[in-house]
Amino acid sequence: MKIQNLISKAHNREVLTRDELIFLLNFPPEAPESYQVMATANHISKELTNNRAEIHAQLALNMAPCPGDCAFCSFSGKNGVFSRETRLPPAEAISYAKGFEKAGANAIYLMTTATYPFELFLEISREIRDHLDPETILIANVGDQSLLGAQKLRAAGFTGVYHALRLREGVDSALSPEARKQSLRNFQEAGLQVGTCVEPIGPEHDAMELADLIAFTAAINPSYSGAARRIPIPGTEMAARGTISELRMAQIVAVTRLGMPRTVAGNCTHEPCTLGGIAGANLFWAEAGANPRDIREKTEEGRGESVASCRVLFRESGWETLEGPSRYFGR
Ligand code: SF4
Repeated sequence: MKIQNLISKAHNREVLTRDELIFLLNFPPEAPESYQVMATANHISKELTNNRAEIHAQLALNMAPCPGDCAFCSFSGKNGVFSRETRLPPAEAISYAKGFEKAGANAIYLMTTATYPFELFLEISREIRDHLDPETILIANVGDQSLLGAQKLRAAGFTGVYHALRLREGVDSALSPEARKQSLRNFQEAGLQVGTCVEPIGPEHDAMELADLIAFTAAINPSYSGAARRIPIPGTEMAARGTISELRMAQIVAVTRLGMPRTVAGNCTHEPCTLGGIAGANLFWAEAGANPRDIREKTEEGRGESVASCRVLFRESGWETLEGPSRYFGR
């Protein structure tokens, strides 16, 4: 296998195979070949978006110890970071959402932990929807859903969802990989668009695991795919496993681009960084309220980026940003 052949293949609009993705992922991130891959992914991402990157903004409606027990998440009951539930009052949620809209976010996400009452989520979502511009795109980031639940989300005014089959789902989480996959089918059957990602990546994930998940995300024809590294929650077993560098994450986000068809224009990375931007990431997230990667109750006072700071990171990486509703979710 030759790197130049794979680069040519990508430029010719062909999706790389699993074996080809593994070949690329096995280069050290600092190898010249990895920089070639990042340059190629950057070129494709810009070509697909006319050099307009997007910034999506997420707010959490609650913060609670969660029985999903994803070992990488600060809400996981086992990690013991948060001991009781707090819920965002509707007025505050509306204020956050309107703030994101005013700042120019291309889509607004509402997130909850897995046990937040679904009917309450729908009720608050409708209220938030009513206070936003009709053009503003609303995305749900909630637990697994039946087809009926997915249809209710659509009826409440959501354009799409963020949902992912995470790395080692069912091993590093208490959730069923099959339930995650069924939810993805339910969302799409209900007419919701799905944004997804290869996450949360740690040093223990080898090229084969990463390539398998890249290929899985490509197979569901998402609005965007991408790659995000695991952020260590202090004192947890996951933190002891270590953290990949931003450069390795940039390499993986670039390889992910080469594993997607051209119908998938979006390529996300998290947390936002210029290395991701130059490696072909064209979607960053701003965050407010609780955040599964943060131990602060208000992530905007901790790890969370704002729409404005994401815009600066994109500009520093050579990207312009889109004004108006997300094109990834507007397919
Ligand atoms: S990732 Fe979601 S399901 Fe898993 S512990 Fe965190 S909030 Fe719960």
